[in-house]
Amino acid sequence: MKKGLELQSITKWMNTTKPVIISGPCSAETEEQTIATAKQIAATGKVHALRAGIWKPRTRPGQYEGAGDIGLQWLMAAKKETGLPVTTEVANAAHVEACLKAGVDILWVGARTTVNPFSVQEIADSLKGVDIPVMVKNPVNPDIELWIGALERLNKAGITKMAAIHRGFSSFEKGPFRNQPMWDIAIELKTRIPDLDILCDPSHISGNRDLIAFISQKALDLDMAGLMIESHINPDAAWSDAKQQVTPAVLGKIISELVVRTVSSENKSFKDTLSILREQIDHIDDEIMQKFAQRMKISEKIGQYKKENNVTILQVTRWEEIIKTRVALCKAMGLSEEFTTDLLKLIHHESIQVQTKVMNHVEARV
Ligand code: PEP
Ligand code: MN
Repeated sequence: MKKGLELQSITKWMNTTKPVIISGPCSAETEEQTIATAKQIAATGKVHALRAGIWKPRTRPGQYEGAGDIGLQWLMAAKKETGLPVTTEVANAAHVEACLKAGVDILWVGARTTVNPFSVQEIADSLKGVDIPVMVKNPVNPDIELWIGALERLNKAGITKMAAIHRGFSSFEKGPFRNQPMWDIAIELKTRIPDLDILCDPSHISGNRDLIAFISQKALDLDMAGLMIESHINPDAAWSDAKQQVTPAVLGKIISELVVRTVSSENKSFKDTLSILREQIDHIDDEIMQKFAQRMKISEKIGQYKKENNVTILQVTRWEEIIKTRVALCKAMGLSEEFTTDLLKLIHHESIQVQTKVMNHVEARV
């Protein structure tokens, strides 16, 4: 069996409790902007580390591409002023070398770098023998294997102080978010690597400062370990990502209004009630599964019958009828149309597989 990742928890390497909050401007623009923003962020008393991009990966040319190495000096000056540890994005070995030389406390790998195993391996190689925390943003495309691959490459190089950052996924379709959250992928990551702490970056998910509080609360409710939120002393005048940045004062308000829930409670009556409700759910799940099994047995019979009569598996009018009647019924029972349609599609797909197997004596799992 493949050995899992060897990880230290973020609360240990940040020496704080959850939720861990990292904040700072999208980009370090000038020394004054970096230090003034850092001071106001530190004054909220709610932030555990400062972020600022020094080398900015911009989608299109001609935009602000970061201050470069000189920005590291500004970041270190901000650390000196505030006492907060500092973090920035690295995309290659030269960035890593410059950060280590300057004394940056924590590194992160950006979404555009996580997609590229050559770059991630270059970063990992440059970190061999170095004890520094590294956070890995999800790749821009919704590919959990790439995300895990990047974490593995760094871990193999000896980096154990790690966290993942969920910043959403690019999509051609434009929705309310700049990057689709696709929470299922973050949940799957946590399920596959339970020891890995995940932070959420609501700024890059939303692309819009008005949605940051909502996304942040949702992330905490999904038991994420903390947040990375962009904050700028004058957001509207920011040289990158202006729409999604908030002032340090708004940042402080967002953080103080977050409800921090625990994964469990020691309260006896809570535990008793929860276990009764869970028993009810277990019982209902048993029944649902038995019904699904019965339903598939009938599909098998139908497949056999269609085969004997040389009739096609798919009958569009019947399928349309099923969707129409079931959606109406489920709606009346308070179930959403989206849920009913998704569930029916899944059942129908499986039913077609079962019938295909009966008709052709083959497994056709496509
Ligand atoms: C950033 O954090 O400013 C950044 C460039 O993020 P991402 O890699 O998530 O796009
Ligand atoms: Mn940004």
